[in-house]
Amino acid sequence: MQQYEDTIVAPATAPGEGGIGIIRLSGPCAEEFLQSFFRPTSGEKSLQSHRLYHGKFFGPGEHLIDEVMAVVMRAPRSYTREDVAEVHCHGGNLVVRRILDHFIEAGARLATPGEFTLRAFLKGRIDLTEAEAVIEVIRSRSEKACSLALSQLDGKLSRTVYRFRDLLQEQLALIEAYIDFPEEDIELPLLRRIEEGVAGIQGEIEQILQSFDAGRILREGLSVLILGRPNVGKSSLLNALLGEARAIVTEIPGTTRDTIEENLVLGGIPLRLVDTAGVRHTEDPVEREGVKRAREKVRFADLVLLVVDGSRPLEDDDYLAIEACQGVRTIIVANKTDLGQHPLPSKVEPIPLVLTSVHCGDGLEELQRHMVEMFTSEGNGEQGESPMITDRRHRQALVHCRQALIRFFEGMSGGMGHEFLALELREALSALGEITGETTPDQILEKIFSKFCIGK
Ligand code: GDP
Repeated sequence: MQQYEDTIVAPATAPGEGGIGIIRLSGPCAEEFLQSFFRPTSGEKSLQSHRLYHGKFFGPGEHLIDEVMAVVMRAPRSYTREDVAEVHCHGGNLVVRRILDHFIEAGARLATPGEFTLRAFLKGRIDLTEAEAVIEVIRSRSEKACSLALSQLDGKLSRTVYRFRDLLQEQLALIEAYIDFPEEDIELPLLRRIEEGVAGIQGEIEQILQSFDAGRILREGLSVLILGRPNVGKSSLLNALLGEARAIVTEIPGTTRDTIEENLVLGGIPLRLVDTAGVRHTEDPVEREGVKRAREKVRFADLVLLVVDGSRPLEDDDYLAIEACQGVRTIIVANKTDLGQHPLPSKVEPIPLVLTSVHCGDGLEELQRHMVEMFTSEGNGEQGESPMITDRRHRQALVHCRQALIRFFEGMSGGMGHEFLALELREALSALGEITGETTPDQILEKIFSKFCIGK
């Protein structure tokens, strides 16, 4: 296990004005550094672990810096499993900065991004999926995404991965016992047992891989594209959904030339709403570029809100927009129903339809309900015992594991030798180890921890 000689320090609270600012130290000298500047009001000489003390923070020459609270958390009962000390001072950049500078002058080193969590990982307090979950909890944009990250932090994914690892290791041991006897066939009942064990894991991996899309949506947000020909009310709809004037609403067709993106949370699902230039035939080069971009965006959207003027018959440009949406989940929003209702032709009937009048606020709630239902029915993060994955790195590792298991089965039915079968199981194990950090290459670790903020 890695031991650090140095003591790191960083502000643990976000920069700027706030109620309090926290400066955190971790390493062998954490307590000593705290003691050199902090005088508890109680006058106690030594501080008890895990107890918050009121007192004063003095700079060199008994220069009072701030009235503070301080705590020492001795190893191993701390976030990093090292000695940790914290000073809670009044919020504001100046005081935090001064306290930090005094610690650095005393010999502490400013922590790099994520270094506290990296130490916790290297000391074995948390594994890699849990470290990654810390970032997700900090960054999550909606309650559902946060509870998903919390369940990962709680070790749900790693527990499953460890269970797979143990099971695969069992099968590997059974096969390895035969490696020294290449001439001997594995007994049939044993062979069946190995096969069943591996097949069970493969099935569970498939299930987890299937959760990736729904999990990704919860984490990254659902990309909702608002599409339609000019002047049907796309910008007005975007504004109404956001509840504020963000896109410019005008009566001249084709003013939303580029795309506008906004974030909001609907029914616990984060959405990225994108308003596009209207789809229509045009010779204006600026608009033509916008139309092209809208078509490209349709391909990457999770959902398209196709807005039409519901008070009038559809036009060629509406059909052009409908055509652009083929193969993508779409809701037709027939807007301007306050001006009348024109029935839609039967050929667009299979596409779900919501009637709205953005002007009067009609149909907006129904539209929102419809949008949420489309996704919650497919997976809402509460999948019972099976963990949900949201991270591309985890997905890739599971895909590698699955590939090795498939090769294992092919090898089995093709009568390959014990050594070959064992090799594939070892491959599968190594792929699993990448998820928890046991076999993760250093460059990848560096990349993961550099995503953290300083002080975490
Ligand atoms: P876009 O070009 O599709 O983004 O359309 P806009 O949102 O800019 O709206 C075009 C015009 O239609 C504006 O004058 C809006 O006020 C008007 N509009 C939008 N929604 C409605 C509606 O529900 N009813 C009526 N009567 N007018 C609307």
